[in-house]
Amino acid sequence: MLIDGHGRTVNYLRVSVTERCNFRCQYCMPEKPFSWVPKENLLSFEELFLFMKVAIDEGVTKIRITGGEPLLREDLDSFVKMIHDYKPDIDLALTTNAYLLPQTAQRLKDAGLKRLNISLDSLKPEIAHKIAQKDVLAQVLKGIDKALEVGLGVKINMVPLKGINDDEILDIMDYCKKRNIKVRFIEYMENRHANIDLRGMHGREILDKVKEKHTIHALGREGASPSFNYKIEDGYEFGLIDPHKHDFCENCNRIRLTAEGNLIPCLYFDEAMSIAKAVKEGDIEGASKVLAQVLKDKPKENRWSEDNPNEEDISTRAFYETGG
Ligand code: SAM
Ligand code: SF4
Repeated sequence: MLIDGHGRTVNYLRVSVTERCNFRCQYCMPEKPFSWVPKENLLSFEELFLFMKVAIDEGVTKIRITGGEPLLREDLDSFVKMIHDYKPDIDLALTTNAYLLPQTAQRLKDAGLKRLNISLDSLKPEIAHKIAQKDVLAQVLKGIDKALEVGLGVKINMVPLKGINDDEILDIMDYCKKRNIKVRFIEYMENRHANIDLRGMHGREILDKVKEKHTIHALGREGASPSFNYKIEDGYEFGLIDPHKHDFCENCNRIRLTAEGNLIPCLYFDEAMSIAKAVKEGDIEGASKVLAQVLKDKPKENRWSEDNPNEEDISTRAFYETGG
């Protein structure tokens, strides 16, 4: 079992396979970064997998593949299969913008993928275009349909932004309800890579929008899930991911691995330790030592404040690098 320096059990590893992306979401990567990680610095699937085996053997039971846009990485299904074959009962999921799902969903399902979280911020083509800075909506909706058709579990993530898509919270909820899939509203997390003009919606403002049409009943957090769950009058459940709330980090169970092998203890902070040398040398003990140190150093909580963020409290971490 993996326990961090604050007594929390860590059983969830998020693995980013690339920082590159085919979208330029305003809250994540509004412009192409000054430079990408050089291809030769990216860990191969085998190298990433070597670390993942160490983490699984020591207590990780849930793995999420993410990015950047993970479906940009060629032969991703072979990576999924490696993990699935090693531990078929692992909770194996992927987070994606869905753009490449129409042609990849079946192969991912066949390789052993169980679930997808899909980002869907608008059902209006021009607003989806404005957020992703590309005409994406039709292809994203096709991707969602394809994932459902092949039998993958689907959850939808929406980041409500003031004056942009804040009038679509109920529509997106309706869209998900009709398809019997769960939506999770994510508070915008201020970071230095995002478009400076953006204003996110606070969790309570998001709930107020839902209350315009529904009565809601709080269910609570689902284990160590970051999502606080609610139920509306007909039993439909949705989630709210509210990292600005003071108790958000209390049960944090996750660490993150980047595509170049940096093991990150917290989404907010810059601190990380590299496992690259260890996995390139096949040094299992070395990889395990880095894992132990990162757990020991895991911060108690993030610094997204409940009120307006202070300038110095805006995170410098890039979501496209850590995988969100
Ligand atoms: N490209 C994939 C996608 O968009 O789903 C996976 C990577 S993306 C970094 C993972 C998640 O992070 C997405 O759900 C996205 O909405 C969320 N995200 C990115 N930047 C964010 C921000 N500033 N605040 C809140 N959520 C953010
Ligand atoms: Fe790409 Fe996902 Fe970031 Fe949007 S949120 S820019 S799709 S990595």
